[in-house]
Amino acid sequence: MQLNTLSQSSLQDYVDCARRFKLRYLDRLSYPAIESEPALENEKHQQEGEYFHRLVQQHLIGIPSEQITKLANTSNLQRWWENFLNEKDLTGLRSLSGLYPEATLSAPLGKFRLLAKYDLIAIENGKATIYDWKTYRKRPRNEWLSARMQTRVYRALLVNAGAHLNNKRSFQPEEIEMIYWFADFPNEPARFSYTSAQYKRDWDTLTKLADEIQTALDYPLTDDRQKCAYCPYRSYCERGIRAGDIDQAEAETEAEELFDVNFEQIGEIAF
Ligand code: SF4
Repeated sequence: MQLNTLSQSSLQDYVDCARRFKLRYLDRLSYPAIESEPALENEKHQQEGEYFHRLVQQHLIGIPSEQITKLANTSNLQRWWENFLNEKDLTGLRSLSGLYPEATLSAPLGKFRLLAKYDLIAIENGKATIYDWKTYRKRPRNEWLSARMQTRVYRALLVNAGAHLNNKRSFQPEEIEMIYWFADFPNEPARFSYTSAQYKRDWDTLTKLADEIQTALDYPLTDDRQKCAYCPYRSYCERGIRAGDIDQAEAETEAEELFDVNFEQIGEIAF
């Protein structure tokens, strides 16, 4: 197997559909089908989401807000950026000394390296808060977010590989919290604390998944055909030609299939 690293996205794909994991990460197939309708509008939303992440990152490294505001030049970006600026808890973060925007952490996981890129890790008095910005059009349920690979990987990896951010002392799970902040639902963040028992369960699960991926001989199609409606690989699997209409989708489906931002996708902004 040529794959060396695993991430929350690849693990989530594996859990959702082993075939999708194979097509995307082992065969490295580019997207042959439109993921969802209306395609252009969704693509624009996706790009705006990426751009919003860049604006926040520039804010966190100290670029004056007035300068950034000029770059929020679509109605979505303007609204998200205004919502962000109105969150004093978020804008106040800039004054912390332990601020790590776009931090990358990694640790061995079985025969792989587990890699995660965080929107922000903020450290104050030995406590770490993981922030993740979301530009979803609908607010997913907390139960769904809590079970996502992202929530599990990000907290577990910070315990496992975050000592260098904390004077060489590993964080205890109880010292970690993860916050999803929704740019369109600024007053409804999702907060997830952490415990040693959860950490143990998460790391065991991740290790088991890595072993399973390492030794997998086949990659079955998911039985849950709903997952295929927005999947770009539908034509490979003969699971439908027409893309699903994302306006009809539940919040969780929309969040699952669209609008998640990977840093690898984000380009630079010229200031
Ligand atoms: S179309 Fe369905 S079975 Fe095929 S990769 Fe996508 S989710 Fe899996």
